[in-house]
Amino acid sequence: MQLQLPGPVVKRLLEELQVAGSNEIGGLLMGEHVRDDTFRVIDISVQRSGGSGACFVRDPALHQETLQAFFARTNGDYARFNYLGEWHSHPAFEPLPSGVDIATMQSIVEDTAVGVHFLILLVARLGDRRNLEASATAFIPQGRPMNVSISSGPPATRFRVLQSLRSLYARLTLRVSARPDGLTNRRPLMQEEGKK
Ligand SMILES: [Zn+2]
Repeated sequence: MQLQLPGPVVKRLLEELQVAGSNEIGGLLMGEHVRDDTFRVIDISVQRSGGSGACFVRDPALHQETLQAFFARTNGDYARFNYLGEWHSHPAFEPLPSGVDIATMQSIVEDTAVGVHFLILLVARLGDRRNLEASATAFIPQGRPMNVSISSGPPATRFRVLQSLRSLYARLTLRVSARPDGLTNRRPLMQEEGKK
């Protein structure tokens, strides 16, 4: 499964993480089904209260309101635009799901009242260079958590992605960065200087 985090969403996350400082914040991921197993986050909600330095407690009532507004905005086209899952920050820890995170997500995805086929959990934090460090994990009913690869989607933005692997503790760092186009067409400097 692939998750696209477009530039504006990354920017919003970075701004919120900066404001929250050492408090955990989180909210909903709302997105678009792009194709096959590729989804794009097009909006997030942010719950700034309820989090401490070490845990985040979601407020279901607030989430319900947010979702209703999202469905209204996307004309109830549920097949294309829907609730994708949750996100929260780990300001003091690696941005990988904790044991509690995994148990919580699994219970939500298996809740028939929620009625979803899968859920994604995005865990994020502000990196040392004010970049976004994040992992994404997919949960399915009666199944094991799966690693979700994160891409920026066009246009390219710079951020560092920590992906949670199936073991959830093995780590893989993937650097997504814009590459200057002129690189391959650079004129040979030595030759230029030699002509003088
Ligand atoms: Zn967590």
